[in-house]
Amino acid sequence: MKSDKISYSKQTIENDDIKRVIEVLKSPYLTQGPTVKEFEDKLSKITESKYAVAVNSGTAALHLACLAINLKEHDQVITSPLSFAATSNCILYCNAVPVFADVDESGLLSPKEVLKKINNKTKAVITVDYGGLPSHINDLKKICRKYNLILIEDAAHSLGASYCNKPVGSLADLICFSFHPVKSITTGEGGAITTNSYRLKKILKKLRSHGITKDKNDFINIRQGPWYYEMQDLGYNYRISDIQSALGVSQLNKLNNFITKRREIAQIYNLNLKKFENKEIVILPKDNHNSKSSWHLYPLRINFNKIKYSKKQIFDIFLKNNIQLQVHYLPIHLHPYYAKRFGYKIGDFNKSETFSNMEISLPLYPTLTKHQIKKVIKLISRLLDEN
Ligand SMILES: *Cc1c(COP(=O)(O)O)cnc(C)c1O
Repeated sequence: MKSDKISYSKQTIENDDIKRVIEVLKSPYLTQGPTVKEFEDKLSKITESKYAVAVNSGTAALHLACLAINLKEHDQVITSPLSFAATSNCILYCNAVPVFADVDESGLLSPKEVLKKINNKTKAVITVDYGGLPSHINDLKKICRKYNLILIEDAAHSLGASYCNKPVGSLADLICFSFHPVKSITTGEGGAITTNSYRLKKILKKLRSHGITKDKNDFINIRQGPWYYEMQDLGYNYRISDIQSALGVSQLNKLNNFITKRREIAQIYNLNLKKFENKEIVILPKDNHNSKSSWHLYPLRINFNKIKYSKKQIFDIFLKNNIQLQVHYLPIHLHPYYAKRFGYKIGDFNKSETFSNMEISLPLYPTLTKHQIKKVIKLISRLLDEN
């Protein structure tokens, strides 16, 4: 890979990260050792949640969250179409039915739209902290309390964000994180669920490892001897390794610095692109008044009617300059699998589709240099200026 290549996101790995991982490689435990617990303890402290259960991907976290609430066939779960497919795939893994509700102006699941989709089969809501911006948690919580629904937060983008001065990670019933290299911190592959519920934490831990418990207080049958363990539910191997957790521990130490860097870069973009917003050529991403984004993405929305270039042309020109952009997201309901299985078509979720059509994600990650930021701003400004 060419060193001057810029992508939309990228991990930051430093010498101390490498050192922590090597320590585990030299230790007796590569998996199911003490570092997983260290990572979980640190994560629950940072998120101000009572419990954290680390797993081997964000997708596994979402799947376990759905299993933990006993999601079953014919149950319905309301979620956002403006997300990565994993957000609603986890509902399908449980043979339950994803019901999409449209987003609002900021790309977040709209509480008003959620209300319209509730019926007696609705069991849960999975909200998405799009781009790192925390969801409308207070409104969603009110709705969920009133209709007896469980609130799951897909916080794959939002580790390090805050809402009403509280860190993301304790505000919903189950909060799911991802530690894929493009996210706030990385463990290579990895994920976690945080919760304040002791009962849910117990279920999550069991299902993470085949549905097996080794805790003698939880046995159904009589403990035969020291070798004894029980499989009580059908679980999976969704365990994270100590190698990955060591990277996670080291990365969590830097979370604040990472988010600060991301916010600074986003502010530089906002400052320099403001003039195009004034001319209604773009819509800039913003923090909501009561929340602080983790700035996972810089989702720039372009009014393509007002400029000379198409989205494809912009992507091609950026690629020629060694800059890889991305679109977040192709709405889930328009993926062939969802469209075919559920009969969705263009126009079904207008706000999500318009958002997606207008959106390009500019490069945003902590190690982006001043020079690289300037290069991106110069290029996008030139393209937005021509009409
Ligand atoms: C990354 C991501 C996931 C899945 O996480 P993995 O760790 O890649 O499995 C789920 N939802 C959203 C919104 C994501 O961005």
